[in-house]
Amino acid sequence: MAKKEFKAESKRLLEMMINSIYSQKEIFLRELISNSSDAIDKIYYKKLTDDTLTFNKDDYYIKIEADKDNRLLKISDTGIGMTKEELENHLGTIAKSGSLAFKNENELKDGHDIIGQFGVGFYSAFMVADVVTVISKALGSEEAYKWESTGADGYSIEPCEKDSVGTEIILKIKENTEDESYDEYLEEYRLKSIIKKYSDFIRYPIKMEVTGRRPKEGSENEFEDYKEEQVINSMVPIWRKNKSELTDEDYENFYQEKRYGFDKPLKHIHISVDGTVRYNAILYIPENIPFDYYSKEFEKGLELYSSGVLIMEKCADLLPDYFSFVKGMVDSEDLSLNISREILQQDKQLKFIAKNIKSKIKRELEGMLKNDREKYEKFYDSFGRQLKFGVYSDFGQDKDVLQDLLMFYSSKEKKLVTLDEYVSRMPEEQKYIYYATGETNERIEKLPQTELVADKGYEILYFTDDIDEFAIKMLMNYKEKEFKSVSSGDLGIEEDNKETTESEQKENKDLFDFMKEVLADKVKDVKVSKRLRTHPVCLTAEGDLSIEMEKVLNAMPN
Ligand code: ADP
Ligand code: MG
Repeated sequence: MAKKEFKAESKRLLEMMINSIYSQKEIFLRELISNSSDAIDKIYYKKLTDDTLTFNKDDYYIKIEADKDNRLLKISDTGIGMTKEELENHLGTIAKSGSLAFKNENELKDGHDIIGQFGVGFYSAFMVADVVTVISKALGSEEAYKWESTGADGYSIEPCEKDSVGTEIILKIKENTEDESYDEYLEEYRLKSIIKKYSDFIRYPIKMEVTGRRPKEGSENEFEDYKEEQVINSMVPIWRKNKSELTDEDYENFYQEKRYGFDKPLKHIHISVDGTVRYNAILYIPENIPFDYYSKEFEKGLELYSSGVLIMEKCADLLPDYFSFVKGMVDSEDLSLNISREILQQDKQLKFIAKNIKSKIKRELEGMLKNDREKYEKFYDSFGRQLKFGVYSDFGQDKDVLQDLLMFYSSKEKKLVTLDEYVSRMPEEQKYIYYATGETNERIEKLPQTELVADKGYEILYFTDDIDEFAIKMLMNYKEKEFKSVSSGDLGIEEDNKETTESEQKENKDLFDFMKEVLADKVKDVKVSKRLRTHPVCLTAEGDLSIEMEKVLNAMPN
């Protein structure tokens, strides 16, 4: 049988592809700017390796121009340009990346982070444009060419005039439809914010003419309208700079600029890793709890960049839940991106980075605890609960990360202490780490159950947060010392005179039986105790659950 070719309506196929790859239309600008940046990188590289050419930095830029009346948006660059063949091969063939080929041919590795690799980004222009026109003149070529297309039903190429080397992409922006507005892609403020969002750290200037009003020079109450070309992007990513070049203020400014929070960060962490997976990160521990932190609306995550281009606004996989308060960004050249560059193809590198980040945050917090107790207590006041919650919900999996970061109020020190501090103060014969639960420290202090332990001179940790006891149940022990509630039946403290207890128990059998009868549903047993000093009676728990824990569990909806 003769083989037949599949028929497909290519224009529909292109539309389907583009619209299913990208979740947001605005990224077309990111893609076109990234291509321009790649084109300048290539010319830069060519000139590096060719002595007859010189690279004058000022000559290289990207320019955005909007013409509202004619619904035209132009993105131009002074990059390497495309020959007729390249226009045909790179823009005429979907999924063909000239940039990937360039990278491979020239064996570019370090420093040249050319962004393109999939050969589809360019077509994202068709999400917002009916017609795309490309005018390009390649480096070393005398002729310029014009490529034009209304989508995948074809394109035309013809010679044209262009003075300088580089490329102009002209988009005829779509008319508004009933449910979609395209006007915004011609608005100055909107374009500016898209550039800022995705392309702020492109290394070449992105210029745009902006209009505004400002005070007239030398006058306080007179204003003038102005129209001037401005560079929109910040260009140099702070995370690529050397730590020694940066001041606390630089980090604070970045925090505010990026709107990670409205407070001042308590601490910043700048990471540069140059191993098997290379990445840079700037992380912040906020000073205050975000208003929605303990609500369902709160979304954890770090910004994820690939070679300086924003890929994901909130990458949740980079942070464990117990560090969800951390804000900031990660940039890596080594991510294997999905074709849309919105999601990652595989998470091996991401897992590596996440693990690395986790231990850096831990180390930073431990350092703060050691060297700046006051600051740590401030931090703990805001986010300590999250750490305890982490121990619990993780089933103690990451206990080695978290246990040394925990603090509880101490009966002896009258302030928050760490488990390590507690254990290192324990007298030799003390078997357990004792704790007492209650609503407030004052109330716990008055509990009859604490008497014997306190009398022995043992320190007691006060658990006033519901999560406290659940968390240490997950820890099970700390430095081989088990935790023990002061209200548990067996405190592991040698009682002074066991025999008397037994005989006293017998002597008072009738009284105790009577008490049990009266308190039938409320207690399991009534016993003589040696643990009390000034109180006549106290409640103790028998099993693993303390009385407080039972209360919490009982209050939970079934
Ligand atoms: P990618 O960037 O992933 O390679 P694109 O679809 O965005 O894929 O672009 C396809 C190719 O077209 C690029 O690899 C590049 O060779 C070429 N190209 C696109 N835009 C430009 C430009 N402004 N200047 C020079 N070449 C370009
Ligand atoms: Mg591209």
